[in-house]
Amino acid sequence: MSLIDKFQNSIESEFAETCLVSAENLDSYRVCGRVPSIVVSPKSHESVVRTISLANELGLKIIPCGGLTNASKGYSPDAYDIALSTKQISDVIDFLPNDLTAVVGPGVTVKKLNQLANQESQTPGFDPPSPEFSTIGGVAMTDNSGPMQLKWGRARDRFMKMKVVLGNGRSNTYGALVVKNVTGYDVLRLLSGSWGSLAVVTELAVRLYKKPECSGACIAGFDNANDVFEVSRKLLQHPISYDFLEVFNMSRISEENFQLPGKYCLVAAVSDFEDGLKEQLERIESLLGKEKCKDFYRLDDPQTKKIHSSIFNPPFFENEVISFRASGRLDQLPRFYDATLSAFPSAEEVPFSAHAGSGIFQCWVDRTGKIEDLHKSWQVFSSHCLKGSNESNSRYVNVFLEKGPEELFNMNSVWGEDSVSPLALKLMSKIKKKLDPNETLSPGRFINKI
Ligand SMILES: Cc1cc2nc3c(=O)[nH]c(=O)nc-3n(C[C@H](O)[C@H](O)[C@H](O)COP(=O)(O)OP(=O)(O)OC[C@H]3O[C@@H](n4cnc5c(N)ncnc54)[C@H](O)[C@@H]3O)c2cc1C
Repeated sequence: MSLIDKFQNSIESEFAETCLVSAENLDSYRVCGRVPSIVVSPKSHESVVRTISLANELGLKIIPCGGLTNASKGYSPDAYDIALSTKQISDVIDFLPNDLTAVVGPGVTVKKLNQLANQESQTPGFDPPSPEFSTIGGVAMTDNSGPMQLKWGRARDRFMKMKVVLGNGRSNTYGALVVKNVTGYDVLRLLSGSWGSLAVVTELAVRLYKKPECSGACIAGFDNANDVFEVSRKLLQHPISYDFLEVFNMSRISEENFQLPGKYCLVAAVSDFEDGLKEQLERIESLLGKEKCKDFYRLDDPQTKKIHSSIFNPPFFENEVISFRASGRLDQLPRFYDATLSAFPSAEEVPFSAHAGSGIFQCWVDRTGKIEDLHKSWQVFSSHCLKGSNESNSRYVNVFLEKGPEELFNMNSVWGEDSVSPLALKLMSKIKKKLDPNETLSPGRFINKI
């Protein structure tokens, strides 16, 4: 009997009611080119514990799966026997609007949580691409944020409590439903962004916020890239509570949707109650009026939402999209843009955007070129960005090859290991060894192929 058969028999005999096992539709659980032998969909924390313990006993390897919207990120797994789907752990366990908190299973989608919070005019402030598929477990474990990070902070700061099963099969709950929810090591933040390599999260308490009444924005056009970055930094010096401050070029969003005021654009968006909104937009306009922009105008609430969702989604390409990402202090953004100019022969046409308030820069190319050329472009881009790193004054730069074909991932350090100190990499390996000693979870997928 194969190990997979043994696994399936044990789980089905012990947990027939609470854990579905299937060998169908395996292709939809593909991760970086690899397909699992089986899909397990536990309905309870206990069945996740048993799944992981049994996999440890039999030496089988698991990848936790939410909506799989980010399955292509990371290295190809060393082995992939079991896809552990969280789809069935999707109950709202507690909704406490008076405490601005919701406790949910990891398989609850962002859309479902948004709808729940909306009933009480609240929001979790998560707005990833594809909210109908993205799960709360996936949001926590990837800890990626978009333009709205400026308003709501990083995803990892919005989880108050997590119940997990570690790779070694032990259950633990970290954090608490209070503001000061950690004493000692902050394991919540260690797990956020661990990309399914340390634990499977089975329950999360999410902080909610009062939903603003309305939003609006000013969009300004510039002829010159340095000017647009300089003005974005100036705007940040004023006490305005931005939703997002985004710098992008004309290729980034479709002109069919917007009349863009220049070659390089800056959108400064705010949300508030009606009078607060008006006052903040007037202040932004008065600041822009003193700067070198070509033109600027105001966007109303629906237009602001529309530009927000355009900025959120990657630009449209007919072929596969490859995404380069760099992050660092705000003064590094012009350097990241220059890196794009050095990396691509027709850089003016390469769409880019920068979250000007949080130092994240992204550009996209489509995969029509040869893989060797793309590899060269990535190397030029990343080395140019990394020149801005200066450890002695704590100025760090990270570069990530975020989306792209597997061959390209395998030729490069996907997680920007080049910019991580050897000591930090050693510490990460030690943590992996402690929490997942048999490398049962997502083996070889994460940073430094741990
Ligand atoms: C405001 C905001 C903006 C974002 N912007 C972007 C963006 O521009 N681009 C982008 O690519 N992403 C972005 N993200 C991230 C995106 O939200 C997540 O990648 C997505 O939500 C993942 O959800 P998923 O269910 O599809 O996860 P999956 O793709 O299924 O999994 C992603 C990773 O999490 C692990 N995982 C999933 N569930 C669990 C679990 N229960 N326990 C342990 N590990 C688990 C998986 O193993 C995998 O490593 C953003 C997120 C936020 C909050």
